[in-house]
Amino acid sequence: MPYTYDDQNIFAKILRGEIPNATVLETEHSLAFRDIQPQAPVHVLVIPKGPYVCYDHFASEASDAEIVDFNRTISEVVKSEGLQEGGYRIISNAGEAGVQEVPHLHIHVLGGRVLGRMLQRAG
Ligand code: AMP
Repeated sequence: MPYTYDDQNIFAKILRGEIPNATVLETEHSLAFRDIQPQAPVHVLVIPKGPYVCYDHFASEASDAEIVDFNRTISEVVKSEGLQEGGYRIISNAGEAGVQEVPHLHIHVLGGRVLGRMLQRAG
């Protein structure tokens, strides 16, 4: 399925500097910033700067340089936030079933407490 990128989404506005963010790390192709509604003591979002809707869109269409940069940025965030020792979780929601709110690829990096089981059984 071809993805259509909506450049009015809130992370696109952050990337254009129209909305402030609490930056953790910025690289040539990626930006890491704190989630505005943290679900854990550490809750950082890592996004590519390119117009990718979700993970498979990025993984299939981004350049090798973007993909390497993005993954290394996640790794740097894990290290700089001190999560290697205690552990962490990375999550990327996609589409309706994934309950994705912002249609620009983002990886949630969560840690700083025991996070519980991965999924709660829906009612
Ligand atoms: P998702 O449901 O995976 O699309 O997650 C979207 C995330 O973006 C949520 O955790 C929000 O709290 C977060 N979020 C929304 N707006 C902002 C913002 N302006 N700055 C930082 N995080 C945001």
